[in-house]
Amino acid sequence: MDTNYTVLARKYRSQDFQSLIGQDVLVKTLTTAINTGRIAHAYIFTGIRGTGKTSTARILAKALNCLSSDGPTATPCGKCENCRAIAAGQHIDVLEIDAASHTGVDNMREILDAAQYRPTNGRYKVYIIDEVHMLSASAFNALLKTLEEPPAHVIFILATTEIRKVPVTILSRCQRFDLVRVPVDTLKTHFAWIAEQEKVELSDAANELLARAADGSVRDGLSLLDQAIAQTGGHVDEQAVMDMLKRADRGVVVDFMQTILSGNVAAAMAKVDEIYTNGADLTMLLMDMMEWTHWATRMHPVLRASVGDNVPYTADQRARINEINKHVSLNTLSRIWQVMVASVSEMAASVNQKQCFDMLVVRLMHIADMPSLPEILKQEKSDTSHPAPTVAPAPKQDVITINSATDLADALQAAREIMLYSYFTKNIEISDITNNCISYFDRGDDAEFQKKLIIWLNTKTGQNWTLNKIEKSGQNQTVREQIEHDVESDPMVADAMSLFADAEIVGISKQ
Ligand SMILES: [Zn+2]
Repeated sequence: MDTNYTVLARKYRSQDFQSLIGQDVLVKTLTTAINTGRIAHAYIFTGIRGTGKTSTARILAKALNCLSSDGPTATPCGKCENCRAIAAGQHIDVLEIDAASHTGVDNMREILDAAQYRPTNGRYKVYIIDEVHMLSASAFNALLKTLEEPPAHVIFILATTEIRKVPVTILSRCQRFDLVRVPVDTLKTHFAWIAEQEKVELSDAANELLARAADGSVRDGLSLLDQAIAQTGGHVDEQAVMDMLKRADRGVVVDFMQTILSGNVAAAMAKVDEIYTNGADLTMLLMDMMEWTHWATRMHPVLRASVGDNVPYTADQRARINEINKHVSLNTLSRIWQVMVASVSEMAASVNQKQCFDMLVVRLMHIADMPSLPEILKQEKSDTSHPAPTVAPAPKQDVITINSATDLADALQAAREIMLYSYFTKNIEISDITNNCISYFDRGDDAEFQKKLIIWLNTKTGQNWTLNKIEKSGQNQTVREQIEHDVESDPMVADAMSLFADAEIVGISKQ
């Protein structure tokens, strides 16, 4: 092993404005300001970690103090005494302060007292205060005093990942720059270049995965690349990165979502087991499913939106998403998204992620299977022979035999008569069904129920039905109670219920 190995993020740290990755606007504004001599007394750089805040601060410090020209220059030489000392973090006039470890006011005062003295070797005394939001209120006050009347030779460069925690009084005295998340393509180009310099193989698909996992941070991406190189001995391919990130293949995710949306519970559960056994991290899988849902939504024909080349799927996967989208409404996608979002914290809090994930899948299938409220309303108004759009093949409508409460419940559900279905299964105790005559007790208070059900039955079956409402409960179970009884006696459910003291069954998704 090479004991002198320098991590890539440090080895390839940007040394001048031109080599800053993905911060074009900032570079243009700063270089113009320096070239025209408009130098502020205080700057604040904000952005997520690893976007180049401290690198930019050091480059700016070099630009101010480089000896290659008579004054500040937008193109510091990188070779002079000052440039080299600053790059190494050893320049006597450039103080890098980590606010996290200098939060106290005494610390801050001590540092700021020295600001009165003229720089020793440079033109400017530069204070780089990293993670400035960590300072205490009194330390901020001390800083503010100096910022209000800064000595001419002092420049402050503040950096923070949490700009909202920096007092407005401080912000108003700083020139602010927002460092953006570095786009995937820019990261890819950068990583490919570094791989070339390092003489390691990095496949395009592996690079894509790394760049996406980096989520806009050059440093995060490079530390992943470091790790991948170490694990593969320099042959970084897609599989290796997927193993490292514990991610399932995008193709697997597309397959999986297709299975869920097709309503085949058994197949979906088998897939979960398979993906899980193959070692995928279920939290990551959920992230990938959310990514899928996001892109399926953006690609949905109803939106007619151009998604450009940002879609992270292959042409074949895109074609399949388009195919799925023909049968899924925007509304369904949006509800799927909501359930997934809620599951993120549920998964994090759960001791058994697999159980949690299984239940999530069941819920998703339930959503995919349910018509939306507008669909229900539309259907109630229009001809009942017009089935609501669905991915699963529409159940045969021509022959309906109703011999029991469960038959009727199933028929209502198949016809997507959700209001009727819900009322019926919850409130109606059937005591007898024979010869198109139903005797029942109604626990609820919907006076219209009988009328609605008769109309539905007559239209649906083409026969005349009689509904005989009896006044006294025959102590029969409602369909819902029957199902609950069946479910509660299922050993898997009983196990789940015993795990959570206050658990109750609030909904049951029928297969
Ligand atoms: Zn220089």
